[in-house]
Formats: sequence, structure tokens, C-alpha cells
Amino acid sequence: MILFKTMRYEDLVYIDKTHIWHPFTQMQEWIENQPIIIEKGKGSYLIDIQGNKYLDGVSSLWTNVHGHNNPTINKAISAQLKKIAHSTFLGLSNVAAIEFTERLIEIVPNNLSRVFFSDNGSTSVEVALKIAYQYWQQHPVSQNKTKKKFISFHNAYHGDTLGSVSVGGIDLFHGVYSSLLFDTIKVAYPYALKEKLSQGESEQKSLNELEKILQAQSHNIAALIIEPLMQGASGMLNTTATYLQKVRQLTKTYNVLMIVDEVATGFGRTGAMFACDKANIQPDIMCMAKGISGGYLPLAATLTTEDIFNNFLGNYSENKTFFHGHTYTANQLACSAGLASLKLFEKNNILERLQEKIIILIAGLQEIGKLLPVAQIRQEGFMIGIEIYQDKENHIPFPSSQKIGYRICQEAIRCGVFLRPLGDTLILMPPLSISKKELKLLLEITKHSIIKILEDDK
Ligand code: PMP
Repeated sequence: MILFKTMRYEDLVYIDKTHIWHPFTQMQEWIENQPIIIEKGKGSYLIDIQGNKYLDGVSSLWTNVHGHNNPTINKAISAQLKKIAHSTFLGLSNVAAIEFTERLIEIVPNNLSRVFFSDNGSTSVEVALKIAYQYWQQHPVSQNKTKKKFISFHNAYHGDTLGSVSVGGIDLFHGVYSSLLFDTIKVAYPYALKEKLSQGESEQKSLNELEKILQAQSHNIAALIIEPLMQGASGMLNTTATYLQKVRQLTKTYNVLMIVDEVATGFGRTGAMFACDKANIQPDIMCMAKGISGGYLPLAATLTTEDIFNNFLGNYSENKTFFHGHTYTANQLACSAGLASLKLFEKNNILERLQEKIIILIAGLQEIGKLLPVAQIRQEGFMIGIEIYQDKENHIPFPSSQKIGYRICQEAIRCGVFLRPLGDTLILMPPLSISKKELKLLLEITKHSIIKILEDDK
């Protein structure tokens, strides 16, 4: 028997390859390769079992805000641990969740006043969809009962549970499940590069399509769901704030709820606390996860207006209750991490200090943009997608079999920067706390890796 304390790299690899099934991973390839096994983290770095350091260029799947092993968040969790780790939120409340809620409500758009906790981005979306649906089913105006459908966007990603997949739009991930999903009305999300249009034209096309649908069908539509300002998993597709404002206006005009999925964009990612702040809009429902706990523990929330909440009130026998809840809802350790993270945002002026770093990023990305295979760089604050094409002039992507994105990221990893691509789009999403020096390193290694792999292929 292997003693866990003395397990060496080879023993860990053996167990991993023999018993573990990794997410979004072709396990045949995984098994053929040697995995990096993380043991520790410090600041912007991940450290593996063999002592190698990797700059965490994607914030551990877009979650980390204040760095790994942050002493303040560690302390808050330890203090909470001395009191209690978890008690149910069904029939009980808890101090950590209440204190966190008080702070959270202060930083979200001020029409949002109710917080429904869950534990990951997908569940925060499931909750939003079910709330929107049920809202109209028990709306005082009975004609609204026909409002049952959802508008979602092509290329959207809202999670991997079946409800969130139904409003998703990435065929590669979602196609195989199509007969399991409920029908949604899909609208084109602006993708100027692929459409060979200007950003303005691409956005107008999408808005025209959306308005047409709303004009014809709004009596059947419960809600629209959107990743505000930046579709993440599709490869970082961004829109202007004006586009988002117009979507908000259309949903208001046609009496359709607007759900914004800020799972990726929330908690400073776009340079503002929420993408909605950048566009100065107020949604009806907001989903959040990832950065909510500073990237420490699984936590998510779905926020609604008081009007929506009020529609769920009544005697128990009226069956207006929102019959939904997860076992680890409002877990105290996660909420204590969330509260500590929000305090750090304030104490360390995170958003203010981020602006300078965004300027460094813009400058570095301009240099990367000059490289021949870089077809487009899409940036919204600390969310960046660098799309690589074989022939930028003639709009020809690389054949997927060439795995350009993957190989560029492998080179970056070899150089000590952990990157994970989305197809042939390189993603840069460093922790907000990254130092300017580390940021420059991230940009340098990204540039080097693109050049190296393209050179190798010549
Ligand atoms: N919504 C968006 C916009 C996301 O980017 C993600 C995850 N990448 C999710 C939802 C799903 O979150 P989770 O993986 O925590 O279920």
C-alpha cells in the first residue's frame, strides 16, 4: 500500500491515470502524456509536486482574484473552520452567509436585492432559468403564463448541466446532447472576425435579429440570457457596452426578463466589478460564481430584483415556493472566503490598481497583434482572447488537426506559464493581483510561444 504522505510523482501519476477522469479532457491523450501535478500555490504561481513553478495565466479556470495561498483569505477560512464548516441552509440560516450577503448587495447593481446561493456557475444558471420560468407562471397577469421560452446566443456557454447546456450554443460541447435539451431561440452573438464584418455591423446584425424575434414572439418568451460584454468559452468574443445597453432596452420594451451570466465576467475581470457596471445596465437576474470566493471554494449566487422575489410569496398551499436547493448551498467556509475577498477588493483598491495593469496589457497585446498569425485580439480588462489563423489576410484558420492553440500553450507551459486555449484562441486571464513584472513575463512568454510553434511548423 502506498502511504499518501510519502507518495512520489510516479505513484501519483499511476493513480491519476488508473482511476481519475478529468473534465473536458480526451483521456486517451491524457494517459499518453505526463501530467503536471500541483501541490502548492503562492501568489500568481502554481507549484507542482516536483517543485516546478508555473505562472497561473488563466487564474485556475478564471477564478483566482487575490493570488494563491492568500494570507487574509486563509485566515478567514481558518477562523470560520474553528466555528463550523457547514450547516444546511434549508430551514436554517448562518452568520457567514448573512455577513457575505450584506457586503455583496452593496456592490451589485442596486435593483438587485435578493441572493439565492448555490455552488457553481452551472447551478447559478439553472436557478436563474427556473426562477424566470416560474416567475411568469405565477405572474398576476395571467396572459403572461404563455411566456415559457428562452432566448440565448450562438456560441454561448452557461455551464454543463442540462438546463445551462440548453441555453448554450457551442456545438462541439453541446451537440451530442441535443435531443435531451429544451428548445431555445438562438440569436447570433456578434463575431465580427468570422462574419467578416466591422464590429458595428456585426452588432447591428445581431440586434436586428433579436428585435425581429422579440416583435414576433415576446408573448412566448420568459427571458433572454447573455454573457455580458464578453462571451468567454466561445473564445472571448466581446461586444461594446452600447450593444449590451441596446439588448437591455429591447428586453424592457418587449417585457422579457434579462438574465446576465457574470460567472466569468464578475468580480473585477473586465476591469469593473461587474460587466453590467461597465455598460451601466441593471439586469433582472444576475448569475455569479468563479471569482465570488476569490477563487478559493465552490460558491455561486443568483441575484434577483424584489419584484421577482415578491412573485414567489404566498401561502404554502399556493405552491409558489421556489422548490430548488443544493446540499452545500451557502456553505460557511465558502462564504467566509467570499467575504474576505470582498474586503480585500476594498482594502487593496483592486479595481483602481487594475487599471494600470490593463494599460500594460494593452501595450503588450499590441506587440503580439503584430505577429503574422494573430488574426484578432479581443480584450475586456483582464479577459483576453488571442485568435490564431493560418492566413489572416484570407481569413483561413488552421486545420484543427494541427492543434496550434494547444501546442502554443504547451510551449508556454514548458517556459513556466500555465495557459489553456479554447481551440486556436489563446486565453489570458491572470489573477487580478498579478504584479506588473509577472504580467510582462506572461506577455513575453505568450509572444515567444506563438513565434516558436509557428517557426517549428515552417
Ligand atoms: N457561465 C459562464 C459564463 C462560464 O464561463 C462558466 C464556466 N466557464 C459557467 C457558466 C459554468 O460554471 P461552472 O463551471 O462553475 O459550472
